[in-house]
Amino acid sequence: MPSPSLRLAVVGAGAAGLAAARELRREGHAPVVFERAAAVGGTWLYASPAPAAAADPLGAAATHSSLYASLRTNLPREVMGFLDFPFTAARGSVVDARRFPGHEEVLRYLEDFAQRFDLYGLVRFQTEVVGVRRESGGRWAVTSRKLGEKGEHDEELYDAVVVCNGHYSEPRVASIPDAWPGKQMHSHNYRVPEPFLDQVVIVIGASASAVDISRDIASVAKEVHIADRSAPTSTCEQQPEYDNMWLHSMIDHAQGDGTVVFQDGSSIKADVIMHCTGYLYDFPFLGDDSTIAVDDNCVDPLYKHVFPIEVAPDLSFIGLPWKVIPFPLFELQSKWVAGILSGRIKLPSKDEMMEDVKAIYSRRETRRWPKRYTHNFSGGYQFEYDDWLAEQCGHPPIEEWRKLMYAANAKNKAARPERYRDEWDDDYLVALANEDFKKYL
Ligand code: FAD
Repeated sequence: MPSPSLRLAVVGAGAAGLAAARELRREGHAPVVFERAAAVGGTWLYASPAPAAAADPLGAAATHSSLYASLRTNLPREVMGFLDFPFTAARGSVVDARRFPGHEEVLRYLEDFAQRFDLYGLVRFQTEVVGVRRESGGRWAVTSRKLGEKGEHDEELYDAVVVCNGHYSEPRVASIPDAWPGKQMHSHNYRVPEPFLDQVVIVIGASASAVDISRDIASVAKEVHIADRSAPTSTCEQQPEYDNMWLHSMIDHAQGDGTVVFQDGSSIKADVIMHCTGYLYDFPFLGDDSTIAVDDNCVDPLYKHVFPIEVAPDLSFIGLPWKVIPFPLFELQSKWVAGILSGRIKLPSKDEMMEDVKAIYSRRETRRWPKRYTHNFSGGYQFEYDDWLAEQCGHPPIEEWRKLMYAANAKNKAARPERYRDEWDDDYLVALANEDFKKYL
């Protein structure tokens, strides 16, 4: 028999928390969403200037997201949206109709989503979860703190907790010797290029942020040098279409006179090192009774990257995988968690779940991936995973056009790194997507 409606705590009202809230309520549960910001949207709430930048340009600041002013999506909008709520230019409230819109448009979309599915009433804004503890009866005590005002703490009991706190706000930094005298900053605190006028800037990293930010800064800087640890050691290449940007292998060492030496042997006196080196998973509100540990960005042990095996299904995580299309994945994970919590969908035994986790680790080892790649879904795995979740939930698999469009975008990005957001060859897939969207509009 399905269990009765459960009282559930959801941590975060970004895209994952909104998807979770919708699916949990659709299943008949009673979610309460805790959000420390004053609005929904999480990552897509742009803050300028970054409040932490002045205090500690390398540091974390839970108070702001990691967006920069010029950011446009790196996925086409058709691919990016939730499965049954298309992120299409045909929606009523669209202001930036570009296929790869600016960040403001994504925030508008998430606000529309919250409005359309009547989620605002579920969210407690400016309320931070500071503790989650398992009680002896199996329920969870959630301690929250009201921000502003008097900072009062409150403790309430919930049947289960769904963690949707995101993983793009705790910077991971490369180690540079203290003696190096220049300025260092993490991309978390980067907003606009103007402060880098006429400077020599080293950008560490090869991720989407590193690519965007190096080009942004190159528009005003004297020189930009990208240090990419995956580039062959001998790499020292001027970048096509730029007379002031070079790609190098990783930094070998940095000296007290301001010189930075790359593994290729070239060196440069730089003013700034910009760390586009990613982020760390962080769950400061969870104690040992969560039964998970985070080591080198591996959250362990988690069944299907969602449930800590010992306390499943009472504690779950939505949105840990990366190198994915995030919103559809959040939606499917949320449907699965909602169905499991109500008893409609069954989890395997603890032993079977642990076998599955071991298989994930052995696949990682076969690929010679470091531990920090545990939740990296590149190489085609994301659609296998999405479709597995969909099958569990009795939901159709990810649409064929979306899979093809994701691949076409990756190909286009490699072929036209400077222009992929404005030039493409897959209009036939856009037409298929728009045809498909008609059923939701
Ligand atoms: P977040 O958006 O980070 O939301 C987490 C929420 O939890 C936040 O609102 C936070 O305030 C809240 N929270 C955290 N801890 C607590 C607590 N203790 N108590 C209460 N509230 C808490 N994705 C795409 O699909 N397309 C893109 O083009 C794209 N570009 C990106 C560019 C950048 C620079 C970054 C950083 C990410 C990008 N992403 C992109 C990924 C993006 O992060 C996801 O799309 C998605 O927004 C993540 O949603 P989330 O809900 O998991 O996390």
